[in-house]
Amino acid sequence: MTQSPSALGVFSVGDGPPRLGARIGDRAVDLTHLFPASSLNPLLAAGPAVWRELHDQLTAIDLDKHSHPLSGVRMHRPFEVADYVDFYASEHHATNVGRIFRPDGTPLHPNWKHLPIGYHGRAGTVVVSGTEIRRPSGPLGPGEFGPTRKLDFEAEVGFVVGVPSDGPVRIDDFADHVFGVCLVNDWSARDVQRWEATPLGPFLGKSFATSVSAWVVPLHALDEARVPAPPQDPQPLPYLRAARPWALDLALQVRINGHQVSAPRFADMYWTADQQLAHLTVNGATLRTGDLFASGTVSGPSPAQRGSLLELSWDGQEPLTLPDGSTRTYLEDGDTVTITATTPGGLSLGEVTGTIRPHSWRRPT
Ligand code: MN
Repeated sequence: MTQSPSALGVFSVGDGPPRLGARIGDRAVDLTHLFPASSLNPLLAAGPAVWRELHDQLTAIDLDKHSHPLSGVRMHRPFEVADYVDFYASEHHATNVGRIFRPDGTPLHPNWKHLPIGYHGRAGTVVVSGTEIRRPSGPLGPGEFGPTRKLDFEAEVGFVVGVPSDGPVRIDDFADHVFGVCLVNDWSARDVQRWEATPLGPFLGKSFATSVSAWVVPLHALDEARVPAPPQDPQPLPYLRAARPWALDLALQVRINGHQVSAPRFADMYWTADQQLAHLTVNGATLRTGDLFASGTVSGPSPAQRGSLLELSWDGQEPLTLPDGSTRTYLEDGDTVTITATTPGGLSLGEVTGTIRPHSWRRPT
């Protein structure tokens, strides 16, 4: 039996060491005999020719000899994250957040349509799907410290850099550097974030944990999901103009404890991944193997397409009722958030999931 591989990751069986694997159907294929490694990084660094060669070898692999059922393997963080950057690329999300936080101002800041807004996150706290998320504590206001009361998710799509650069990456050279796509949950403590983020942006409200899916889907496996990018007005600077602007049509779904709460489309993003990569290197900043950049919260035009509880509950003013009758403004201890995505052709990008655990009682000394 042969089937096309859809994603790569790192898994172990029993007490065995982590090794590279390919997801084929519901099986994890051991790649030790083709590319021995305990993380994706050596493969990421090897570049597009090697990525394609491995893909071709995989399509001919004997599944009975080299594979394990997915249910019997343990997944690890697929790559060592070098730097982590998070963008803010959905006009719908940015507009909603602007309306919530600045009801008397204009929803979008004046720079928003001129450049992809982003911030540098914390690479060391990127964890693999399935890792439990402990409710963080932090400063909540003047003289106030404690566990966040506004713990949120952000449904995002992440891009994994393979080939380094020693300077700017031209927008049309995206595929020479980026290996593939994963799903990201940018966990956010809204009360901490709101108090600390002026004037320099997110810090403790985001840095406690970011979850990524265990499987990374190579870009070339997503060709069928490519669609023309939405028009942009005003026209961006030349370094942000692709010869043929493209986007990825991925249908995201967000579930809380199994109940769907949102279904945004990635094709609705204003800024695209190639623009983000060109932007983050345009000043000469270098790229490293394992760099991760995420899209920003994926939200669509309708209320059922909002990619965070901040928007879904309008910062707690409009509690969400789940099908089991319970209500949510923000996440409660014990809640499990699962984000999935599929292409128009039905290829699954897997999932990124995490369960909230109570905050630690440790206090700063
Ligand atoms: Mn985010």
